Amino acid sequence: MSLKGKVALVTGSTSGIGLGIARALAAEGTDIVLNGFGEAAAIEQVRAGLAAEFGVRALYNGADMSKPADIAAMIAAAETTLGAVDILVNNAGIQFVAPIEAFPAEKWDAIIAINLSAAFHATKAAIPGMKRRGWGRIINIASAHGLVASPEKVAYVAAKHGLVGMTKVAAIELANSGVTVNAICPGWVLTPLVEKQIADRAHTNSTSVETEERALLAEKQPMLHFTRPEQIGGLAVFLCSPAAATMTGVPLSIDGGWVAQ
Ligand code: NAD
Repeated sequence: MSLKGKVALVTGSTSGIGLGIARALAAEGTDIVLNGFGEAAAIEQVRAGLAAEFGVRALYNGADMSKPADIAAMIAAAETTLGAVDILVNNAGIQFVAPIEAFPAEKWDAIIAINLSAAFHATKAAIPGMKRRGWGRIINIASAHGLVASPEKVAYVAAKHGLVGMTKVAAIELANSGVTVNAICPGWVLTPLVEKQIADRAHTNSTSVETEERALLAEKQPMLHFTRPEQIGGLAVFLCSPAAATMTGVPLSIDGGWVAQ
């Protein structure tokens, strides 16, 4: 399969899962809009590397996904510069862990803004062009936490459940427009977002990172190893393939058996 000629915008793609998805899509020939935070020189290295390795056009847009105006401007800039946003991957996300009674209101607001509202704003801005062209793929990176809960992650679990709900609504509204909307629900993927949780646990419990990695997996996943970002990328590529043309409104688990229990 080739996705040559399509344009993919992946939010939060300067690191982790988003970068894995951007690489997998670029390997299939899509032009790429990268987004996310980081050091300018490192981001430029990633952008130029993608363009050189896969022979695609690659742009970077530094939109802050907590700001609706930035998001609308990013979609408009991609459409102007690259001609379209055919594949939208709503991936940017943050985490904060604390019991509800100690959960800072500003962390709640930030997680809901970046992990949920940003996907709404980006989807809203991308739909008209996708409908006009009669083809589109919207892929929301939810989580096992979009399907089941864990303690101390109230904002994250609420946002990810919300994202799964939004996926279903958009899928129904767009069912006959050539646009599919699905959610990917990963279990543990070893990225900076999870490395921080492991480091915090090692600090709190006075243990090692290796001990906490094993404990983290054992608590939730029957399969005792991490999913890799490129495997999430592989699933995103499949969702863009003709084989997946009638798959829509689905939360797809890739979680080592987490939610099978
Ligand atoms: P990560 O920290 O490696 O990457 C997050 C990305 O989002 C980075 O590029 C970061 O710069 C960007 N970002 C954060 N705030 C932003 C903002 N305001 N504006 C623009 N970009 C912003 O994390 P990750 O693990 O790769 O997570 C990616 C997605 O996958 C998240 O939605 C996360 O909830 C989800 N997820 C991760 C796991 C896991 O185990 N790592 C599991 C399930 C779901």
